[in-house]
Amino acid sequence: MRVLFVEDEEKIAKAVKRGLELKGYAVDIVNDGDTGLSYAIDPDYDIIILDRMLPGSIDGIEIAKRARAEGQKAPILILTARGSIDDRVEGLNSGADDYLIKPFSFSELVARMQALLRRPPISNGTLLTYEQLSLDPAKYEVKRNGQTIKLSNKEFSLLEYFLRHAEQILTKDMIINHVWNEDAIVMPNTVEVYIGYLRAKIDRPFPDQPPLINTVRGFGYKLSH
Ligand code: CA
Repeated sequence: MRVLFVEDEEKIAKAVKRGLELKGYAVDIVNDGDTGLSYAIDPDYDIIILDRMLPGSIDGIEIAKRARAEGQKAPILILTARGSIDDRVEGLNSGADDYLIKPFSFSELVARMQALLRRPPISNGTLLTYEQLSLDPAKYEVKRNGQTIKLSNKEFSLLEYFLRHAEQILTKDMIINHVWNEDAIVMPNTVEVYIGYLRAKIDRPFPDQPPLINTVRGFGYKLSH
């Protein structure tokens, strides 16, 4: 497993590298944002860990965004010293798959990495469609009425789950269990927040069509029309 670790704090970088190498990972360390980006677009990495605050012109979140835009498919974990919900949501919207608050324990880092690496790779299954909505798991592409819609990783997973269970009621627990990994910190209102993001992208721009993501009061949500 090849790991890219973009971290400017030398002590942390060295300790993590040594620990991961003992577990059999091959670790590349980069110390600044600009070099980090040039490495992060390399498709040979199996997982990428980005410190959020980095010297140079771009931070960890920006690296995640640009690497995804360049087609990087490897899981991305962001390390952040800040713990506010806004930061977490921004990190997850950037194309990162998970985040870890500094200071962290080495065993927690490894657990998060292993959870991310256990996720099945994006399947090259068939196009999922419902009404005028389509999602291509292989191309990582979502369209409504032929119009491309950009989604974050989490929003994409959430929509994929809805499409695989169209017209079925999905409870919040079902959604959490299928869309978030077992080690993720899921706040009570996280599902609502993400449903809100999805609606803003999937339904709101199409006011002349029936909304597709519907609340089933007291039960959960349903993809229906
Ligand atoms: Ca830093």
